[in-house]
Amino acid sequence: MVELSKNKRMLIVTAHPDDESFAMAGSIARYVNEGVSVYLICATNGDVGEVAPVFMEGFDTVAELRLAELSCAAETLGLSGLTLLGYRDSGMAGTEDNRHPDSLCSASLDEVSGRITHVIRELRPQVVVTFDPYGGYGHPDHIVVHDATVQAFDAAGDPDQYPDQLNDGLLPYQPQKLYYHTFDRRLVSLTINLMPLFGTDPERMGKNGDINFREITAHSYPIHARINTRMVEEQAQQARECHASQLGGLTRPGLLQRLMVLFQNQHVDTYMRAYPPVNGSRVRERDLFEDVVLN
Ligand SMILES: [Zn+2]
Repeated sequence: MVELSKNKRMLIVTAHPDDESFAMAGSIARYVNEGVSVYLICATNGDVGEVAPVFMEGFDTVAELRLAELSCAAETLGLSGLTLLGYRDSGMAGTEDNRHPDSLCSASLDEVSGRITHVIRELRPQVVVTFDPYGGYGHPDHIVVHDATVQAFDAAGDPDQYPDQLNDGLLPYQPQKLYYHTFDRRLVSLTINLMPLFGTDPERMGKNGDINFREITAHSYPIHARINTRMVEEQAQQARECHASQLGGLTRPGLLQRLMVLFQNQHVDTYMRAYPPVNGSRVRERDLFEDVVLN
């Protein structure tokens, strides 16, 4: 069993190589710099990401390239550990890739959740972070990762769940807090109103026209924690640049990229606290480890 000191430990569960950097590079860098051990689970190899030929030099597959980009980001951010679940990227909703037998969407939720439970029991993080229930913008892999992580968060402390793992010397372990990375949908609504000026259709955004801004604003979640990332912005930007193949051509940045930059310029990552439940009270945390007891 891994020997763990009595320190702060955080586990982040994402779907694709780049989710960690585009969504929360600032938070990761900040916590690592404060001495927290930050671990990442990435569920797929990002096989379906579209990549300009220039980036493929030296790589046989898109997955190989994207995992190399992920390890660049992991090093830049100073992650303490990276677990790859190795599923195939399911692609955007409604595409052929959803049904590929190796895709994350084809795997059983119990299986995915069991693998996350195993990592929680091994690393014993006090804080677990994943996507919001809509996966941020509706990507099917993000939604599976959300569902599987919520199930694992509930299972890890229960000796009756995945009991076989306990024969390997693992102990049940209940993390103290669960957060969903989310973002203020009001900023997206604002952008939708500006879109006619750019001649763009808010229901067909993104490189492949498969991101629906109106749908995104229909799935809104409360923000309970705001993590200021201004002091680590340079490091966060370096991590994002590791994923060069996913940054688009950038000869003429699209509206989606402009919106991302708008979010990044706020220098704050935002989270909903799922556990302990908030129950309608006003919660404004500045630190995901607030009230955590070190164990
Ligand atoms: Zn993703």
